[in-house]
This record gives sequence, C-alpha cells and structure tokens, in this order.
Amino acid sequence: MHGVTATASGPAELLHRLRARSGAAAQSPITHIEHVTARAGRVSAWPSWADAGVRDAFVRQGITAPWDHQADAATLAWQGTHVVLATGTASGKSLAYQLPALTTLAGDPKATVLYLSPTKALAADQLRGLTRLGLDGVRPATLDGDTPREEREWVRQHARFVLTNPDMLHHSLLPGHARWAVFFRRLSYVVIDECHAYRGVFGSHVAHVLRRLRRTAARYGSSPTFILASATSGDPAGSASRLTGVPVSAVTDDASPRGPVTFALWEPPLLPPSSPDRSSSAGTGLASRTAGADLAAGEEPLIRRSALRETADLLTDAVVAGTRTLAFIRSRRGAEVVATIARRSLDEAVPGLGDRVAAYRGGYLREDRRRIERALLSGELLGLASTNALELGVDLAGLDAVLICGWPGTRASLWQQAGRAGRAGGEALAVLIARDDPLDTYLVHHPEALFGRPVEATVLDPANPYVLGPQLCCAASEAPLTENDLALFGGAPALEAIRSLVEQGVLRRRPSGWYWTHRGRPDVDLRGTGGAPVSVVEAATGRLLGTVDQGSSHAMLHEGAVHLHQGVTYLVDELDLDDAIALVHQEEPDWTTQARDVTELSVVSVRSSVDAGPVGLFLGEVDVTNQVVSYQRRRLGSGEVIDTKPLDLPVRELRTVAVWFTVSPQALAAAGVEWADVPGALHAAEHAGIGLLPLIATCDRWDIGGLSTANHPDTEAPTVFVYDGHPGGAGFAERAYATAAEWLQATRSAIASCGCETGCPSCVQSPKCGNGNNPLDKPGAVQVLTTVLAALPPTTEPTHSHPAVPHPRA
Ligand SMILES: [Zn+2]
Ligand SMILES: [Zn+2]
Repeated sequence: MHGVTATASGPAELLHRLRARSGAAAQSPITHIEHVTARAGRVSAWPSWADAGVRDAFVRQGITAPWDHQADAATLAWQGTHVVLATGTASGKSLAYQLPALTTLAGDPKATVLYLSPTKALAADQLRGLTRLGLDGVRPATLDGDTPREEREWVRQHARFVLTNPDMLHHSLLPGHARWAVFFRRLSYVVIDECHAYRGVFGSHVAHVLRRLRRTAARYGSSPTFILASATSGDPAGSASRLTGVPVSAVTDDASPRGPVTFALWEPPLLPPSSPDRSSSAGTGLASRTAGADLAAGEEPLIRRSALRETADLLTDAVVAGTRTLAFIRSRRGAEVVATIARRSLDEAVPGLGDRVAAYRGGYLREDRRRIERALLSGELLGLASTNALELGVDLAGLDAVLICGWPGTRASLWQQAGRAGRAGGEALAVLIARDDPLDTYLVHHPEALFGRPVEATVLDPANPYVLGPQLCCAASEAPLTENDLALFGGAPALEAIRSLVEQGVLRRRPSGWYWTHRGRPDVDLRGTGGAPVSVVEAATGRLLGTVDQGSSHAMLHEGAVHLHQGVTYLVDELDLDDAIALVHQEEPDWTTQARDVTELSVVSVRSSVDAGPVGLFLGEVDVTNQVVSYQRRRLGSGEVIDTKPLDLPVRELRTVAVWFTVSPQALAAAGVEWADVPGALHAAEHAGIGLLPLIATCDRWDIGGLSTANHPDTEAPTVFVYDGHPGGAGFAERAYATAAEWLQATRSAIASCGCETGCPSCVQSPKCGNGNNPLDKPGAVQVLTTVLAALPPTTEPTHSHPAVPHPRA
C-alpha cells in the first residue's frame, strides 16, 4: 500500500503525497489550496505613558517592543476609550490590556482590575503570565468555584488584579458587593477575554451581568474602562458594544508575524453504488449517516465517504511521510476511531508503526495527557487524533501539519486549530476535511468565506424577556431599581418587564424604587437552557451515563430510541419526564431510530419587515408548539424503514423570535415551480437555510428550528420560518434577518453546487427533520431562493419597523 520509509519530511512533501493520492481519483477531493503568505511583524515603540517598571518587566520576558495592534489598543484603553482587540490566535492580546492595567496599578496604589474569562484554564494561564512578570504590589489572584474560603477572604482584601469568570461575578461578587466595596470603588479596568464565547442565551445573560457590574461600580463611584479580547469575527465593535452596553472601538489590524501556511480544503468523494466501502463502513458507523429520505425498497441511498475515515487515511499518509501531525475531531469517539483506523493501516504496512499514533481527548488523566504531549513534541509519536481539548490554555505548537475533521463551528476555532501547525517561521500545512453537511460543503466550495473578510458575528439578545426579567430581579436584589437604571437595562422593554414582575409580586414599587420582595436571592443560572436536563441512567446498574438537555430529550430519548453514548449503543426502556430520567440498557440492534414530530407555529407580532413585491421578509415573535408523535426504525446501512411506532409525549410550547419569508404563488409559478412541488421546495430551502445560518451567526444548527408551508394562516402565502430554539430568542433569527440577502445567497449556492441529483445530507437533507426528510425538492428550492433573492434588496433596511405592535392576525 504505502511506501514506508519513515524519513522526516515537511508539509510540502506531505501535500505532494496527498495531491498524488487525490490525482488518481476521478474527481479530486481537494477543492481549493490557499497559500497564506508569511507576514512580517510591525513593531511600535513603547507608548510614552507606559510605566517604566512595567515596560522593563515585559522586556525581561523577551518582549522588546509591542506590535502595532497591541500599542494601538493599549493606548485607546489608557485614554479611557472602551476597546475590543479582535486579532488572530497568538497575536499577543494579553499585552494590550496588561500594559494599561498594570501601568494604572503602578501609578495608583489603590486601583484595582477585574479580569473575566469563560474558562478556569484560561484564567489560570493568565495568572501564570502575570506572576512571571514579577511586579510588586499587583497581587494577582484567581477566584473561582474551587477557591477555598480562607483564600477568598485574602483575594477580597488584598488582590488588586482579580481573575474570575462571569458566573462568580454573578453569584458572588455582585450580590456581596458591600463586602467588595473597596475593590469596586477603585475599579479602573474590566478585561473581558475571549469575549466571542459570550453568545446566544448565555451571552445575553452575561450582557446583563456586565450592566449590573457597571451599576454597582457607579454606586461606589467608579467608571471602569472595558478592554475586550476577541477572535477575528464580523462586526467585533458591534458585538462588544452589545455585550457591554457601552460604545466600543475595535482594533482589528493584526501586526504580529506569522509563518506561511498552505491550507487545503478537502471534500470526501461520493461512493459509487455497491462500493465495498459502503457495506464495511455501515456496520461500524463509519459511513456518514444514511440519507434519510424515504427510499423505495432496494434503492441505495447516496453516501459520501465519511470524514472520519478520510481523516484517518490522511493521518496514515502523514505518519508514513514522517510528518508530525495533529488531527482534530469533534467527538471523543471520533478521535478514538480515527486513531484506531490509522494504527491498523500502519501496522498492516509495517508491524509496529501503528505505535506512533495515539488518541488524545478530554477525560484522560492529566498525567496521561502530559505524557502524550511530550511524546509528540519529542517525535516519539508522529500522529495524534484529538478532540479540541487542546484548544485553550495548553501550549502545544511546533507541528508540521494539522488535519481538521469537519468545520469546527467558528472561524475562531478553525484558526486556533490550524495555528497549532508551523515551527518557528517554518512552512505549515492545514487541511479542512468536510463532513456530510450543507455548511461544510459550502465552505470547501467557497474559500472566500474562510479566507476573506469574516461575516460570522457573535450574536446575543439582551432584550430576551426570559433573560431580562430574571436579571432585573438579580439587579433589584443587589440594590433597588430606580428610573435612572432603566436606560442601562434597555429602556422600554425593561420598564415593561419590571411592571410584569410587580404584577407577579416578585418586585414591589416603593417611592425610592423597585424592591426585590423575597428573603433569598433570585436563583438564576447564566448557562441555563430552560428546564432540568434529563439524566440517562443504565437501568441494570443505576450508572449515570450522561445528560441530554430537556429541549432535545423528547426526540432523542423517547421509549425505544437508539441512544449512542461514547461509542456504546443503548436502547431507551422508559422516559420519565416528571423525574427527568431516561432508563436505558445496552444492546446492539441492527436499526437506528428517528423521531417524527408535528410542529405548529403562529405569529404573535411583527417587529420589522421588508416589503419586496412578491416577496416579504419578516422578523417577529412566534409561538411554536411541537409534539414528538412517533418514531421510525430504519435498517442500519440501507436506511430501509422497518416500521413506525406511535409515542405518547406531551406538547411542548415555545415563545421565541423568528425570521420568515413569503413568496407569492404567482411568483413561484413564474419561476417554474409546479404547485404540487411547492411544499418540497420550501422544505428543502428551510433545511439548507438552517444548515447555513452558522455562517453568519455563531450558532449551531441544533440551536435553530424551522417550519415551511405552502400556505400559512398568518401570512396567507407560501412561507419559510426559521426560529431560535430558546425561549425568548437568542439573537440568531435577528442576525439572519439583518443579513438575509447574504444568508439566502449562501443557502442557494450550497444547494445549487451540490453534486447530488435529488438532495443529500450535504445540501437539503437534515439529520433532525421531524418529517423524515419528506417531501424535499432540491431543484425547486433553488428556484424559490432565486425568486426571493431577485426581489430582495441587497441590504435589509426595513421598510416598516413596528416594535411590539401586535400583528393584526395574531
Ligand atoms: Zn446534495
Ligand atoms: Zn424537515
């Protein structure tokens, strides 16, 4: 099989081999090669305002001068301008906030700084960096759930640079503000690291925690400057302003040096019918999921070679070529599978060669992880298949090549992973291997979306009433709310929420403000997703296998469902919704299950709309009711339907935010869509639209729901709805509305450019469809979207904006 002289060789050699391999295939799996050229760094002088002691401490660390972007952001912050630094991985964002913060601490012996990070690991990493600087009087300290009680006291009384997370701020510092009065009084800077992590419902909560922080600081007489660090994204200034509630300036021009990277985009080929790969991979779960459309008996579904298998083969080739390679795989089980296949192929070629590949994932013991890292750095190991456990806080660079199995979700993650390749200025190779999914397919065919200007923005929605109400309670429990606070919490919607809380008896109006009436503090979880998660328990042993969030539990854990957990298959015996428990037993059936559901949607109100002749575009509140009513058992591999079994599960209700478009039947007929094909065309457009939404907003397709219909009673037209899957909305539908032309253009292109004939998982089929992917009309979806795009203006300036006005038909 492979030539097996394991001589060390670089990325260029590896790419040559991969090309040779792909050249043999009828259609090359390499869809694009991008040469990201090396960039020389641009240095700036140390700003004149910087404290000499602080500057010398950095120089002692080997930082002789700041990069341009570090100096720019630091100076803005020093001048009191709120600033977000949105540059690449390893561009030295820490220095940009450390310089003004530490200079202030040096000049004012009472000043304090608060640093927030989304993970404990990152805060610990920052603490090490600060401690290394060896500056007197800074007294940096981390504060998190694990900090012992006595140490917390020390941090509160003495630390001047407190490194914590939004949860601690919410649960401990803000409610106990009186004890932290000295710290808040002298608060000069608030640093928000990795601020792109605050998105969706969690981000909306954090936005209010920061508003509470601003209010508390103001109470004690301080007005801190915010310094945010973000991965590169679309509209960093807008996202940062939304998060903090203050106007924020962005610094985005990365002046740090970087080595050359060759970036290849790779699409696994479609398997020919009756290929041996099909049957051999089906049983092991290695084929990508089977096409879900109802298939006539004997008809074979279209299968793409699985991204896992493709990654395993590339890893094998890399090891044979002597290239130090790290493969990123999204699931733990996937990482194990890739390592196993690669080891087996290598051992077949040269017994013993398989030992040079290992799997690495979160959940291993710390000492095992360190041992594996050392073996990779020393060259004892040549290939590692890893989950993204390496992404934060751990320093493992200096590899020749990185394989990324499936779009990691955001550009930030992509570059973080690709950034692991490249030794000291040397050339590096990165390969993105597409999974069988519309977004992955789109990206490997549209390199400009990856290598051009970013469009994906970090979205959140502080106006979500399900977030706003509880957060106002938290604020009121810290100090009574007054009229002056209304603007801080969003103005009119805040007043409306307060009135409703007064009606419920949760807040009480007194002359001096609105008071929290209860003795205890409000119980609000920033990461809450609505309802307790359902525990998956092995009935025979009582062992807890894991949890599934309540929103997905009906579809994933209904009685009779096949449930996969870390590579082991279980069958669900019973779903007890009252106790939030699913009892399961281990079994390896030769079928899979797919839930069927019925969704109804009604329009509550329209917030904003665009009237584009035969096409309408809307943003508004909707009520969604959903009921999982049955499930199908399908033969593994062939996808053949064995039977359909009814289920007795309650209806679930959700009030949320949706974006929707309507197309007149006349326009559809003019575009050549037969009336009988309209439901399938809309349904296919809906699936692909949901699949492509993460391109413009940092969300997961599982955060989003959809509904399409040839005639909706509230719109009286053929309509496609796409809604946020969280109560009150999370900002995703809103972003889709604001960038509708771009979003629908990408959706149309993803469908039109797919090589399949009638639709496949790479374009219009959805793994979460409650209708068994039926009906779906791929050509019709392209016609629908072409019609919509022809009518829609390129930018969506609403022609009508009517906030909170009830829709006449609701
Ligand atoms: Zn397709
Ligand atoms: Zn569907």
